[in-house]
Amino acid sequence: MKKTVAIIIICTMFLTTFSCVGVYGQKSDIQSGFEIVLNGVKTDYNSVIHGQTHCVPMRGIFETMGASVFYRSRDHKILVLTRDGDIIEHIIGDVTMTMNGAEQVFEHPSVLENNEAYIPIDMVSEALCPDEISYDNRQLSIQKYLFMSDYHKMIQEVLDVCKDSNFYPEQFQRYINYHIKMPAYTVREAVFRVNLGLDYPFYENVTTIGQPYDLLVLVNKYNQLPSDFEQYNLVNMNRAYTASDAKQYLLAGVAYEKYIEMADAARNDGLSMRVVSTYRTENYQRSLYNNKVRATGKVNADNYSARPGFSEHQTGLAVDINSTRGSFEYTAEFRWLQQHAHEYGFILRYPKGKEWITGYSYEPWHYRYVGVDAAKIIYEEGITYEEYYAKYVSVNEFR
Ligand SMILES: [Zn+2]
Repeated sequence: MKKTVAIIIICTMFLTTFSCVGVYGQKSDIQSGFEIVLNGVKTDYNSVIHGQTHCVPMRGIFETMGASVFYRSRDHKILVLTRDGDIIEHIIGDVTMTMNGAEQVFEHPSVLENNEAYIPIDMVSEALCPDEISYDNRQLSIQKYLFMSDYHKMIQEVLDVCKDSNFYPEQFQRYINYHIKMPAYTVREAVFRVNLGLDYPFYENVTTIGQPYDLLVLVNKYNQLPSDFEQYNLVNMNRAYTASDAKQYLLAGVAYEKYIEMADAARNDGLSMRVVSTYRTENYQRSLYNNKVRATGKVNADNYSARPGFSEHQTGLAVDINSTRGSFEYTAEFRWLQQHAHEYGFILRYPKGKEWITGYSYEPWHYRYVGVDAAKIIYEEGITYEEYYAKYVSVNEFR
């Protein structure tokens, strides 16, 4: 049953004639007191008056109301995650606020005072559900009743992990939806999976890669190379390191140097490594994929072959070594690669048991160049490139 908790916000003006100037050039001539009484427990806040408008500290108010507040300094953006599962977005100094993407415009902007965002009081009442709130402009008091339903308890479980470094507040609603859909997972597992994109089926919710020439580019079933992408820094491989057929084998310059170093080291250990596939154009990938679909059907083709635009072979950073048969796993070359590939910056890209993350069946022959530093971490932690990317490359700008 619903438990009702009453919150009463009472504003009283008890300080006067305090002068300060906000960064947006508005002069605030009165600073007054503002208090929140929550179940009999009183908290005092400052408020500032800009023009005729009372502005109250955004973080303090929302946190008192059970929400979590995040800030991105790059553009002064504030995200508020509410206990109702809503995302409120606001940029300090703006007159607009969005609730789950729907924009509302206010008469007065928010201001920054002493490194704190103060928002007009009507923004607070709008954000906190106007139908549930009683707001008295003359007395500057707000009353709201907070309901603690099972739904709120579930949201609270998500908010409980929101200060984890891998919690991206802009994905709040995806975390909630996935948590509802997959109740067997803990919230942290749900967050982890959403960060990998797994709340969507493969090839849904696809992002076009912004930095396709970056060495750490992530190309997978959620991240597509731009249609005009073409790797320019390609090296025609020395034939001593390639299969002996008529094809041309090209690799990106950085990957080429380290590949030769690695193949030479294996050769010194009495082994033979020759690439059987390296750089591919998008058109070539298209014909490979279409052939696979014709031969085995679409579902099967998707397990083994990338759709055009989604293959990391198109970056020139991936190699298939010696053969593309499962039996490669039982060769001395494979065992050598398992021990040493990371020393040269290469990783096994589609490991056994991680198909649910990578989207591909196990490929013991496919290696991706990511540089020595990344490869070492991936090797030591026994993680996929997707996990490495979510953990070390994605940037969480909200604090
Ligand atoms: Zn491959």
